Amino acid sequence: MIRILNVKTNTRMEAVDITAQVMKIIGDSGVENGICVVFVPHTTAGVTVNESYDPSVALDILDALEKMAPRSAGYRHMEGNADAHVKTSLVGNSASLIIESGRPILGRWGGVFLMEFDGPRERTVYVKILEG
Ligand code: ZN
Repeated sequence: MIRILNVKTNTRMEAVDITAQVMKIIGDSGVENGICVVFVPHTTAGVTVNESYDPSVALDILDALEKMAPRSAGYRHMEGNADAHVKTSLVGNSASLIIESGRPILGRWGGVFLMEFDGPRERTVYVKILEG
C-alpha cells in the first residue's frame, strides 16, 4: 500500500517532524512486520532520521548544512536555489524504516523529518509499506 502526506512548510529551511503521521500510516495499515519507505519526490527537500527529542538537534543539522552549502557560493544553477539542491543530495530523498510489532524501529530518540531547503512550499511525502 502507498499513502501520501501533504506537508506545508513555513520557512526557507526547516526540519518538519513527520514521525507521528508516519506512525499513524503504519498503524492504520495493520502491518505488524515489514518495511516502510518514506520518499520525497522533490529536488530541494529531503528526508532524514535523527533525534526528535531535543529540537536543537534538527536546528544544528540545518546550521551545519548551511555551512557546507551556503545560499550564495557562486553556483552555476541560475534558479537561485542551488544550495537547496546540494543540501537535498546531502541528506537524501528517502528513509527505510523496519516495522516490528506494528511500529517502526527508530531507537529511543529517533524521528523522521521532512527536510525543507527551499520553502515555504507544499511538499508531498510518499509512504510505502511492504509486509514481510
Ligand atoms: Zn533549482
